[in-house]
Amino acid sequence: MSLFSSTVLEIALPVPLRRTFDYLIIERESNDSDDNLTLYSPTIGGRVLVPFGKQTLVGVILKIKNESDYPFEKLKAIQKVIDQEPVFNEKDMHYLTWAAQYFQHPIGEVFHAALPKLLRENKQQDDLYPQVLTATDSLPTEYASNATAQKELYLLLSSNALNKEQLKQKEIKSTTIKRFVDEGWATWQKQQPTAENVTTASINEHLQLNTEQAIAVSAVNQSQGHQSFLLEGVTGSGKTEVYLQVIEQVLLSQQQVLVCVPEIGLTPQTIQRFEQRFNVPVALWHSGMTDTQRASTWLATKTGQAKIVIATRSGVFLPFADLGMVIIDEEHDLSFKQQETFKYHCRSIALYRANQLSIPVVLGSATPSLESLANAINGKYHHLKLLKRAAGSQLPSMRLLDLNQCRVEAGIGEPLLERIKQTLNNGQQVMLFINRRGFAPVLMCEECNWLSDCHRCSGYSTYHKSSNALICHHCGDQQPVVHQCHNCGSTRITTVGVGTEQLHLTLNQLFPDFPVIRLDRDSTAKKGEFDQKLEQIHQGKPKIIVGTQMVAKGHHFPNVSLVGIVDVDGTLFSSDFRAPERLAQLVVQVAGRAGRGSIKGEVWLQTKFPEHPVIQDLVNNQYADFANYALTEREMLGLPPYSHQIVLRAEATAEEYAAQWLQNVAPHLNQFGQLLMLGPMPAPMSRKAGKYRYLLTLQCKSRPYLHKVVNWLIENLDSIQKDNRIRWSIDVDPVDFS
Ligand code: ADP
Ligand code: ZN
Ligand code: ZN
Repeated sequence: MSLFSSTVLEIALPVPLRRTFDYLIIERESNDSDDNLTLYSPTIGGRVLVPFGKQTLVGVILKIKNESDYPFEKLKAIQKVIDQEPVFNEKDMHYLTWAAQYFQHPIGEVFHAALPKLLRENKQQDDLYPQVLTATDSLPTEYASNATAQKELYLLLSSNALNKEQLKQKEIKSTTIKRFVDEGWATWQKQQPTAENVTTASINEHLQLNTEQAIAVSAVNQSQGHQSFLLEGVTGSGKTEVYLQVIEQVLLSQQQVLVCVPEIGLTPQTIQRFEQRFNVPVALWHSGMTDTQRASTWLATKTGQAKIVIATRSGVFLPFADLGMVIIDEEHDLSFKQQETFKYHCRSIALYRANQLSIPVVLGSATPSLESLANAINGKYHHLKLLKRAAGSQLPSMRLLDLNQCRVEAGIGEPLLERIKQTLNNGQQVMLFINRRGFAPVLMCEECNWLSDCHRCSGYSTYHKSSNALICHHCGDQQPVVHQCHNCGSTRITTVGVGTEQLHLTLNQLFPDFPVIRLDRDSTAKKGEFDQKLEQIHQGKPKIIVGTQMVAKGHHFPNVSLVGIVDVDGTLFSSDFRAPERLAQLVVQVAGRAGRGSIKGEVWLQTKFPEHPVIQDLVNNQYADFANYALTEREMLGLPPYSHQIVLRAEATAEEYAAQWLQNVAPHLNQFGQLLMLGPMPAPMSRKAGKYRYLLTLQCKSRPYLHKVVNWLIENLDSIQKDNRIRWSIDVDPVDFS
C-alpha cells in the first residue's frame, strides 16, 4: 500500500463515546477526472461524511496521520469530503478539545454542539451564504419617467448587490423585484458575507461617564493581552454604558465582540442599546431563532462581517474570525450552565478562549457569583466596582413584612395590600414577584391530607386554572384536575399556596380600576408575547405587574416604585449549599427593578421567618456584605469556590439499581486519598419522569487531582461496574443538584 492510499483521518463523530474514530481517505481511481479532486483532499477542521454501523454520520477531521492503532484492513474509507474550507480553525479545535476534556463529555458531541444545525448535515458552507439581488448585463440604463420605483432599484443595483433585508429597508416593493428578475435584469445570487472596516463614523455619541464608570472603562481599555474583569455594579449603575464604551476600542481595532446574556435577558431593549450606539452589523444568537437565521449568524461571525454578537450561552462556540473581547452580562446567572447532555459552563469556556486569544473578558453583575468574587479577591480577576446608580436615582429601601403578624389574602399581607393601594393611587406602577407559575402549587384533600403528587416524580403537580389541569413542572406530565380525593374519595379538595395565576386573579378583583399584567412562562409562550408585554409595561398601561424571575433580570421600568417579593420561604430550608446565594441574587435583582425613575423605590419582603439569618442579611445589608459572609462560611466548610466538585449521577427505573450501582462504585474511589465523597444519596428530586435518581458528589481542593480521579473513573467504570440498567452521567462544576 502506498503512503498516499493509506492516509488515516482521525475523526470526531457525534456519538456518545469518549473517543475518536479512524477512517481512510478515499482512494483515487487513476482514471478519475481532476474535477473530483476535492473529494480526495481532506482538511483538518473540515467535515466528512462517514459510514458508521448502519448510519452515515457527519464528522470533523481532527488529525491527518499515517498510522492507526487499528489494523488497516479493518478501517473503512470515508464517503465524502464535505469541506474544502475548514469549519473550525486550529484554535477552535484546541479549545473544543479542552472543553471535552474539562467537562468530561464525548468529543464528537462537543464538536457537534459547536456547529449550527444546518452544518451538522451534509450541507456545503456556501449553501448558507445569503442571497443578494445582483444586476445582470441586460440591466437597462433608461426607464420611463413615470417608472420611479424601477429607476430607484436600478440606481441601487448599479452600485451594489442587495440582500433581502437591505431591499426591505429601502422599501423596494416585491413586485418591482419580481419584474427585474422576470425580465432578466437582475438575478438572486449567493454571496459570501464580507467584513467591512469600522471607523469612528460608525460610532454614535456616548454618555458622559461618571467617575466610577470612567475608572472601569480605562482599566479595561488599558489592559494588555488576557485579563479578566469583574464589573460589580449595583442595579442601574450603568454597567451597560461601560460595556458600550469598552466595545468602541475593540471595534476600532477591527476586532469582534461577543456579548453573552442570560436566556431571558435578550430583549429588544438590550439589542436596541447596542444598535443605537454602533452602526455596525450586530448579529444575534439564541434559541428562538430559526436554523437558517442561526446559520447566517454563524457565517457572519466566521467571515468577520458581524462585529458584535449578542448571544445566549451557546454563542460562546461561535467561530469568530478575530475575537477581541468577551462580555458576560449577569455572569452569576444559572442559564450560563447547560444542565443537559454536554454540561458546559459558558463562562469557563469564554475564559479559556479569551486566555488562548490573549483578549480581555468582562464579567458584569450586580450580584456576582461567589466563584467570581473569590477570583476577584484572590487577584485572578481585576475587581471593578460601581456603587452608585448612574442616572441619579437612589437604591430602594427594604422592608420586612412578618406574615405571622397580619391577615393574609391570596398570599399577600394586609399592610402590603394597603401600600399597593397608595402607590397605585399615586399613579405609580407596582411589581409583585413570585417564583411559582400556575394557580396553586398543590391541591389537597381536607379530609385525609392527600396531596396532588405527580405519579412519575417525587414532586407535586401544580394546579393551572386557565388550562384546567394539574401539570408537573418537573416532567411536564399533564392530568385532569382532581375533584375527588384519590385516597379517601372525599370531594373536599382545596388549593394550597399561591402561584402567579391566582395572584393575578386576586389583584384583578381587589383593584378593578388598575390593569394587571402577568409575566411568566405560561403567559408568554407565544412568539413575541414577552416583548409585547414588556412594551405594554413601558407604555404604562398595566399598573400591576405579576411575574416570575422573568421580570427580575435587567429590565428598566422607570415607573415601578413598589416591589413586593411574595414568597421566599421555600428556599430558606433548601439542602443545596448555594440556595442562600441564589436567594440573595434573586432578591437583589428583583429589588433592583424598583425606583429606577425619579421616585425612590421600596421593596417589601414577606416571610414567616423574619428572624432567619439570610432574611436578616437581605434586609439589613448589601449584597457585598452577604457575599463576604457567605464566602467565609464556604471557606470554613471547604465548599466551592474553596474546593471543586464533580457529580456522578445514576438513573434507573428501579430505586435499588441506581442506589446499588453507586454504592458499588464508591469504594473504588477510596484509593484517592485527597478526595472527599458525599453520598451516594438520593437526588433531592429522587424520582423524575419515572426514573429514580441517585448521586455521588466528589469534592477536592485540587482541580487537577479531581480531574485525575474522574479520568480514572471513566476509563474504569465499565470494568468495575457495568450495568445496562442504569444510565450514568458526569457533571463537572455542578450548579444544580436537583
Ligand atoms: P445596569 O446595566 O448597571 O443595570 P444601565 O446601564 O441599564 O444599568 O443604566 C441605568 C440607567 O442609567 C440607564 O437609563 C442609563 O441610560 C443611565 N446611565 C448610565 N450611565 C450613565 C451616565 N454616565 N450618565 C447618565 N446616565 C447614565
Ligand atoms: Zn412529574
Ligand atoms: Zn382524602
